[in-house]
Amino acid sequence: MSALSELNEQILNCTRCPLHAGRTRAVPGEGPENPRILFIGEAPGFHEDRSGRPFVGAAGQFLEQLLESIGLKRSDVFIANVIKCRPPGNRDPQPAEIEACRPYLDRQIELLKPRVVITLGRFSMARYFPGAKISQIHGQPRKIGDVLYVPMFHPAAALHQPDLRRVVEEDMAKLPALLAQFEKMEETPSKQQIEQLSLF
Ligand code: URA
Repeated sequence: MSALSELNEQILNCTRCPLHAGRTRAVPGEGPENPRILFIGEAPGFHEDRSGRPFVGAAGQFLEQLLESIGLKRSDVFIANVIKCRPPGNRDPQPAEIEACRPYLDRQIELLKPRVVITLGRFSMARYFPGAKISQIHGQPRKIGDVLYVPMFHPAAALHQPDLRRVVEEDMAKLPALLAQFEKMEETPSKQQIEQLSLF
């Protein structure tokens, strides 16, 4: 059994916080074991809790459309969440729940070793951009070590707000050029290229 499968088993049987009592299934996340891109959402909703899979409801369909718009399939990327069990009524995750679940996301990242991490919404953004406002930093990448982090609005937030939907679509549309630039930079990093990236 791979280390990732073992981790999934731990998540499926987790009782570290009270959310386990109300879940149908925990939702570890899914995707290739060595993804280039990791998307991190917030928490499972109704459909995710039922199916045990991330982003399968309306927000998931929108995420798939966004991926398609840049030539990616959901099976090309890994999709995970900050917390692995559905909060009652889809309320925001609480700090204690995020803390209880943190070792799972930490270990996923350690095992998956993504080159690019795209945060969806403010809870996953807070992990890498503490104190930042999503309305101010969405779509602006930051390179930390050799990983590129890109904060984006959560697709669910954009679903019913046409203006926000446009913003998410625009941020996603910029991603291929950004990734190409990042890849080139990995081959021949230069200060000028790093500055260009931060201007994106
Ligand atoms: N929203 C999320 O943040 N994650 C899911 O898995 C589904 C909806």
